[in-house]
Amino acid sequence: MNCPTKIKEIFVLLGMDAIAMVDLKNQYLSVKPEIDAVIQQCILGGAYINGKQVAIFERHLADYTGIKNVIGCGNGTDALKLAIMASDLPKGSKIIIPAFTYIAPIEMACFLGYDVVFCDVDEKDFNVTLEHIKAVFTEDVKAVIIVHLFGQPCKDTDAIYQFCKEKGVVLIEDNSQSLGAEKNIERDSITTTSFYPTKNLGAFGDAGAVLCNDDALANKIRKIASHGQSKKYIHDVVGINSRLDTIQAAILDVKLKHLDEYNLKRRKNATYYLDRLTAIENIVLPEISENHIFHLFTIKVKDGKRDALADFLKQHKIDTVVNYPMVAYQQKAYLQNIQLQNSEALCASSLSIPVYPEISESQLSYICDCIEEFCKTI
Ligand SMILES: *Cc1c(COP(=O)(O)O)cnc(C)c1O
Repeated sequence: MNCPTKIKEIFVLLGMDAIAMVDLKNQYLSVKPEIDAVIQQCILGGAYINGKQVAIFERHLADYTGIKNVIGCGNGTDALKLAIMASDLPKGSKIIIPAFTYIAPIEMACFLGYDVVFCDVDEKDFNVTLEHIKAVFTEDVKAVIIVHLFGQPCKDTDAIYQFCKEKGVVLIEDNSQSLGAEKNIERDSITTTSFYPTKNLGAFGDAGAVLCNDDALANKIRKIASHGQSKKYIHDVVGINSRLDTIQAAILDVKLKHLDEYNLKRRKNATYYLDRLTAIENIVLPEISENHIFHLFTIKVKDGKRDALADFLKQHKIDTVVNYPMVAYQQKAYLQNIQLQNSEALCASSLSIPVYPEISESQLSYICDCIEEFCKTI
């Protein structure tokens, strides 16, 4: 199965050591003069906290998404914390969250003292649907957090929003993985996002934002993010300190102009995989919906062969990631004695392969060759 000569030849050909899940250095090099210039401006400007670059980026992101208010903050997890805090849920409230997701929304709900009600997700597109939410809904539920996973907005978002509105329940949309997939968002929900370096719009460190159309809510979030202050040293509510750095805002403002182009490249890479891998029986490919921006390209490997494929690719110098290896209710910190069939099946079969914008066609081709070769042997 291992063919070292072939690997060596190919890597000489590609002029590289290995294929990682991202290539942040090359993304930087593609915009280096602009980034270097704005970083210099920030340093010379001296306003390292709340410099004018923060408000400028917030306005540009508001224009880009169509969501009226953007509040920059320290990271995507803080964004979720702020969204939940600003929702003022009564003590003992329950929050519905999908079990197949990144841990942050679950962690923040628990951290703030709420009970998490886990729901299942669709086995085909990894996302939560209205049916899954309805299946676990009770009168104690006061908020729902949906996650637009892997670059694809939940197809039921509008229906879920309507449902939440009818029930008087807060809807929080964790859009850390799908920024730019949907624009002109008019819903009165709270959106959160992360600019962790590997996200589709990535900073050079930690950064995040909360977005909402409601002005009063936006003011409240801004206040909570700044020690609950209405004015300097005047504290109206219990808050936290969560700020978007001036330098990160300046970098993000440069990269935001290229986000559509990055997302298009990701789609193009996904299309390449879909063309090349479609005939392979042991693999289920993701569907390419109209607005999928492929934060991750996640395949499902049949017959319990996922880990063997990951190992094979590793031997061939290709990085992969299992998103996600465990459902949240099986994690020690969040144990619940429940069973959600699709979520568990996805944890056992999903494997994400490199789809980042800077990957070359010869690299994509090599990855496909390796997957084909592995599948011939099983
Ligand atoms: C990345 C991510 C977060 C957390 O973002 P940080 O900036 O690392 O705190 C939250 N939710 C989802 C779905 C994510 O992918």
